[in-house]
Amino acid sequence: MSDPIRVDDVWKSYGSTAAVRGLSLSVPPHSVYGFLGPNGAGKSTTIRMVLGLQRPNRGAISLFGRPLAAERVALLRRIGSLVESPSLYLHLTGRENLEVHRRLLGAPRRVIDEALATVDLTSVGGRLVRHYSSGMKQRLGIAQALLGKPELLVLDEPTNGLDPAGIHEVRTLVRDLPKSGVTVFLSSHLLAEVEQVATHLAIISQGQLKFEGTREELQARNRQMIVVEVDQPERAQAVLTGMGCTVTREGRRILIAPDGVREAAQINAALVQAGIAVSHLAAERNTLEDFFLELTR
Ligand code: ADP
Repeated sequence: MSDPIRVDDVWKSYGSTAAVRGLSLSVPPHSVYGFLGPNGAGKSTTIRMVLGLQRPNRGAISLFGRPLAAERVALLRRIGSLVESPSLYLHLTGRENLEVHRRLLGAPRRVIDEALATVDLTSVGGRLVRHYSSGMKQRLGIAQALLGKPELLVLDEPTNGLDPAGIHEVRTLVRDLPKSGVTVFLSSHLLAEVEQVATHLAIISQGQLKFEGTREELQARNRQMIVVEVDQPERAQAVLTGMGCTVTREGRRILIAPDGVREAAQINAALVQAGIAVSHLAAERNTLEDFFLELTR
């Protein structure tokens, strides 16, 4: 089975602003693919290109193994999307909102029941959308995107602006979607939003890819560091570098990347021998958030 999305060395500029610079992505079938980056990183621009709303200046995009540029209309029929908040009629019921879309699509009646069931809104389908919570509205928006029975669902910042309950509802829904055979591509500027639902992640910054891999591969970066606090950080840094350690200095704290050879006791001994007072020595775990910030700084 071909990858639902492949982005191959894509570039896009707006005037002199290079929004996307040589980006390549592979979204595997039946994955929940989290597309992460801080605001302005180029996520929306990439999504617009994947949805055929904008053309890359250079590079190619293929969907389901077919070139988007040449087969745009046929390929876009296989995609559902929710970009920004859904456009809903508040004075209609959830079911009536879906009915409006179903007619536009010319889809059979049963897709409405199926979509309502998928997003867990069957019991409130007859209620006016005006009375829906923010999470229910967003789930209805996702139901709308599912009406055409897409193989790929593209969601741009789907939890933006939702309350904590809504975030939880959308997260649970997204996590379960691959069970019905849909691949999900979702963007976010918050690692915490995506980390719990994504099977695969890409991190971009300033239009460039900084990481792409499975969630497990990302978590493997979550490494233990040895941290020391000393009275002469500059000298300590020189001593440790001299021993071949990879170190970063943060004020009086020195972070030493593990290499499996130098143990905490050895590091301590070397520092003390050089006449440096060590006031604190500990192993600390670098959080994924630290890693994300480091990549996108
Ligand atoms: P993100 O979705 O990650 O926040 P965007 O793709 O919206 O990032 O933006 C990437 C860069 O391109 C930013 O510097 C932004 O200011 C710029 N940009 C986006 N859209 C336009 C546009 N229509 N015209 C000019 N610059 C744009």
